[in-house]
Amino acid sequence: MSKRQLAMVIDLNKCIGCQTCTVACKTQWTNRNGREYMYWNNVETYPGTGYPKNWMELGGGFDTAGDLQPGIIPNLETDYGVPWDYNYDALLHGGSFEPNVEPTWGPNWDEDEGAGVFPQDNYFFYLPRICNHCTNPGCLSACPRDAIFKREEDGVVLVDLDRCQGYRYCIAGCPYKKIYFNPKISKSEKCILCFPRIEQGLPPACAQQCVGRTRFVGFLDDKDSQVYKLVHEYKVALGLRTDYGTQPNVYYVPPTESPAKFDANGKIIEGSTRLPIGELEKLFGENVHHAIRTLRSEMKKRQETGESELMDLLIAYQHQDMFRLDNNYYRKVAKDKGGYALAPVDTRYIAGKYTKESHTLYFTEDRDDDIKRHRK
Ligand code: SF4
Ligand code: SF4
Repeated sequence: MSKRQLAMVIDLNKCIGCQTCTVACKTQWTNRNGREYMYWNNVETYPGTGYPKNWMELGGGFDTAGDLQPGIIPNLETDYGVPWDYNYDALLHGGSFEPNVEPTWGPNWDEDEGAGVFPQDNYFFYLPRICNHCTNPGCLSACPRDAIFKREEDGVVLVDLDRCQGYRYCIAGCPYKKIYFNPKISKSEKCILCFPRIEQGLPPACAQQCVGRTRFVGFLDDKDSQVYKLVHEYKVALGLRTDYGTQPNVYYVPPTESPAKFDANGKIIEGSTRLPIGELEKLFGENVHHAIRTLRSEMKKRQETGESELMDLLIAYQHQDMFRLDNNYYRKVAKDKGGYALAPVDTRYIAGKYTKESHTLYFTEDRDDDIKRHRK
C-alpha cells in the first residue's frame, strides 16, 4: 500500500460520450509504436460489449480468500479488433477511399445500441474507463518478474519496461483488462495517470480535456478535495466491480435519472424508469442505493432551498474546482529524496531505455530551466 493515493471520480450523469478524453489520451500516449490498438482511456456504451469485448467475463482479480483468479488474455483480431487507417491521399487524387485492413471489430463497435426495445424501454449510458491504479492490483500480483510497481508517493501503478519480459500474466490478472501487450517491443503497457503532468500540479489529459467536466482528481486523504468529499463524505462515488477484489481508485457517480418507459400505445408509463437498478448493482454494488438516495435528496433540497454543497460540487462551475493536485507536495518529495525541486519523484519508470523521451526531458543539469524551455 502506498503512503498516499490519488483518485479520480467520474460523474456518469454528465458524460456525453464525446470521446474527447479518449482522443486526448490516444494522441498523447498511444497512437504509435505498437500501441495503436491500446485505449488507456476508452468510453464504452453500457450495456454493451465494452473494450476488449466482454471484458467483465475474462477473469482475473481476487476471490474472497484473496487468491488471484485465472484470467484470459484477449485476442487482437476478435476481442480488440485490428486498428485500421484510411488512404487519405486517395481523396486528393480521385482514388477510392478505403481502410487499409477490413474492419471486423473495434472499440465502440456497438456504440449507443444499449439494451431494451425502441421506443418503449431502450436505454444506455456511457462508461469511461481507465486503469484504476488499484490499491491491490491484480496485474502487479500476477507478474512473476516484479516488473509492476505502485508508487509510494501517490499510488500510481506503473510497468518497469526494462524488467518486463512480455509474459502477459498481468493482462490475465487484471479483471478490468486495462493493461495491454505491445507486440513491437514485447512489453506490457498501461495508463500512467499522466504522472509527468500530475507532478507539475496538472490533471491527467483525459480529465483536463473532458468537455462534460465529469472528472475530479485529487488525493483520497485530502479532506478538502472533491474526491474525498464525493467518496468518503457523501458516499456518492463508488468503485467499479469492487467484487474483483483489487480495490480500484477510480470512482463513479452512478446515473441517477432516466426517462420513463412508453407503453405499446406510445403513452408514458408514469413512475417507471428505463435504467434497471440491477444493472447498477452489478457495476457498483449494494451501496448504489444509498448513493442514488443521497443524490436525489440533495437535488430536491437544491430545488426547494437553492442550497446543496453536493450539487455545487458536482456542477463544478469552474474548471479548477475539479482538481486538487499539489505540485508543492511533489517538490517536497523530490527535495527530500535529494533531487532538484522539479525532479521526478520516482525515476524507475522514466529511467528505462524504452521511455527515453521522458528521460531526456527531465535529466539535464538545470531542471528548472529545462521545464521552462519545454513549456515554451
Ligand atoms: S486496473 Fe488493472 S492494470 Fe490497472 S492497477 Fe488495477 S489491476 Fe492493474
Ligand atoms: S470527455 Fe468527458 S464527457 Fe466526453 S466522453 Fe470523456 S468523460 Fe465523457
